[in-house]
Amino acid sequence: MPGGIQTEVKTYQMFINGEWVASKTNKTFPVYDPSTEEVIAQVPDANADDVNRAVASAKAAFEEGPWATTTAQERGRVLFRLADKVRQNLPALAELECRNTGKPIVEAEYDITDVATCFEYYGGLATKVVGYVNPVPDNAMSLSLKEPVGVAGQIIPWNYPLLMGAWKLAPAIAAGCTCVLKPAEQTPLTALELAKWFDEVGLPKGVVNVVTGFGESCGSPLVKHPDVNKIAFTGSAAVGKIIVKEAADTVKRVTLELGGKSPNIFFADADFEAAIDGALFGVFINQGEVCSAGSRILVQKSIYKKFVDAMAEKAKSIKLGPPLERTTKMGALVSKEQYDRVLSYLDIGKKEAKVASGGGKSDKFAKGYYVQPTIFYDVDNNARIAREEIFGPVATVIPFDDEKDALKIANDSPYGLAAAVWTRDIFKAMRTVKSLRAGIVWVNHMQPTYVEAPWGGYKQSGFGRELGPSGIEEYLETKQVHINLNEAAIGWY
Ligand code: ADP
Ligand code: MG
Repeated sequence: MPGGIQTEVKTYQMFINGEWVASKTNKTFPVYDPSTEEVIAQVPDANADDVNRAVASAKAAFEEGPWATTTAQERGRVLFRLADKVRQNLPALAELECRNTGKPIVEAEYDITDVATCFEYYGGLATKVVGYVNPVPDNAMSLSLKEPVGVAGQIIPWNYPLLMGAWKLAPAIAAGCTCVLKPAEQTPLTALELAKWFDEVGLPKGVVNVVTGFGESCGSPLVKHPDVNKIAFTGSAAVGKIIVKEAADTVKRVTLELGGKSPNIFFADADFEAAIDGALFGVFINQGEVCSAGSRILVQKSIYKKFVDAMAEKAKSIKLGPPLERTTKMGALVSKEQYDRVLSYLDIGKKEAKVASGGGKSDKFAKGYYVQPTIFYDVDNNARIAREEIFGPVATVIPFDDEKDALKIANDSPYGLAAAVWTRDIFKAMRTVKSLRAGIVWVNHMQPTYVEAPWGGYKQSGFGRELGPSGIEEYLETKQVHINLNEAAIGWY
């Protein structure tokens, strides 16, 4: 990939069976820069025929290709080589991610670094997958073998395009699976750039395929395909529910990471400055387009007024600007669709609560999907803006009385992805950690995410865990093997 800003609209092909191909229909669709609303690329509009090709190639690679006999050491090395490619090309990948998503370049650079780290982590883990010897009560040896699940269909969202790809590809490759990756239609470009190195790093043809298309015409055929053994999905709760239903007919393994409405809880004894920072960072990082966004900010009544005022004051310093400028702290939302959705929630919010800051689109820019970081306060936890995932820079501040009240409000949500609690009282902190119904809980912080630690949700935020050792388990089957050590016949009849 050449460095520097592309000036021409590039037409991409997608990657199936080790080859760059157009869709069977030859149709393409446009990909945008949401900060300028300009088309920056065209990509193949894949449909069921293309998905069938990709799945057939992944199945053949799993069953017959050299991949089936590739050692764990070699799979690990493949991932290390892929990580090196990502690190060597970090500026160009970050720039492309930045242009396609509208996120600030500095954040895009962190994302791409995390991509490389994820490949490295699972590169190392490839050789640490071990089975068990089971202590059966007979003269026998009983083993549990860990084997790859087979062909994995991987459907990912647009908020962290390449990173979500890495979270799915890295454990699958380490486990010895083969993959059909479908990036979000808004943001397919960095995954296609990554595919350029697959051959060179030692991935045999068909092991990883990238198909570009829309949810219903490309994602759904992948979910329904009888030769796909597992679907890993990250995206909206609405689509997650469709996927569970569509995967049922072929009894696929499914892992889901869906939305959230994560509570960020502030007790009166928390360090005030750190708390204000943490409240804003928790909800406004990546324009709030984060599944674990701390979008419900629960504040103890004794500090509530001061807290809301301080948040509103500090929010003024969040610099909304062109994504490629290094001083930008908040860029554009990813698409027109998302922009309209977030703006409609701002209208709803104005009827349901009071506005402390922001509240509309930004008038600083002639073009682009810029929305002001917005803080609603005096929000009822039953309000739509407190129950529904907005996936934009919208905070709802909710007052609470005491610990019991805070927990009741925090857990009163259909979601359970993440939560955070801020206090200097270790007893209160740990009691809260235990009672929160969420898959990820931070104490005196919100959002740091490490590849070493499991990630996933409770309740309607999904099931299964990515990252850490749990992440590879989701790509493994367990085979129980019984080896009889008695040479004599059974003698039953
Ligand atoms: P958003 O509404 O924010 O775009 P989605 O959940 O719709 O989030 O999208 C996440 C991913 O799911 C994208 O790759 C999208 O193409 C895909 N997707 C959307 N609808 C379906 C579907 N019915 N079946 C499979 N994948 C889908
Ligand atoms: Mg969608």
